Amino acid sequence: MAKKRILLKLTGEVFGKQHEPFSADTIVNLIGQIKELKSTHQLSIVIGGGNFFRGSKQGKELGLATKSAHQVGMLATIMNGIMLQDLFEKHGVSTELFSAISCPQVAKVINQQAINTALDESKTILFAGGTGSPFFTTDTNAVLRSLQISADEIWKGTSIDGIYTKDPAKNPDAQRIEKITYAEAIKQRLGIMDLTAYSMAQQHKQRIRIFNIFAPNALHNAAQDSNFGSIIE
Ligand code: UDP
Repeated sequence: MAKKRILLKLTGEVFGKQHEPFSADTIVNLIGQIKELKSTHQLSIVIGGGNFFRGSKQGKELGLATKSAHQVGMLATIMNGIMLQDLFEKHGVSTELFSAISCPQVAKVINQQAINTALDESKTILFAGGTGSPFFTTDTNAVLRSLQISADEIWKGTSIDGIYTKDPAKNPDAQRIEKITYAEAIKQRLGIMDLTAYSMAQQHKQRIRIFNIFAPNALHNAAQDSNFGSIIE
């Protein structure tokens, strides 16, 4: 049976734990799950940079021009990529780190041929550097890379357990949505992903599942139950 190919989008916050800014606990746990799923699932990862810098938040606080702030954000994802690669390799998982921003001392430049080779060699691909362009997000990048690896699905691992009608942290009456179409997600402007990511996924009929990556056995649950998490399709 062919392995399911998954593009896993991880927020940079997976490098933290409650009030500790840096902890490898979550990542090491995820690496263990990825190893256990290896016979049935091939996962590639798009890593965010939110633990270090988000263009829209820290950039704004510093009064930076958006284009500069986003460049800092993209470089933050490369630092996370290096840390991910180190931890994966340390735990016996062979990886290929790609960066959309040319940075040959630390990562391979993104190239379709090299992506195909890494997939054929059953390496865990780590995509850093975002799309390489400001004004995009790592969510849009996740859709883009999912198409480049011909993924069956995108799994967006975040800190909440799915899609809500409103931000559940600010609105106690927010309702959890189990399944929604891309068109509805766009119409309702559901903030869990940006509109570019939704519309790109819609155009290419790419199924997305959103779940809490910090919950125990999150990847196992996603692998075993095709309806685990909130679904956009
Ligand atoms: N970013 C960008 N272009 C991209 C991807 C990311 O400019 O294609 C910047 C953007 O400023 C973003 C930051 O990189 O805030 C870090 O990514 P993100 O906020 O998505 O990280 P996450 O929340 O997933 O940790």
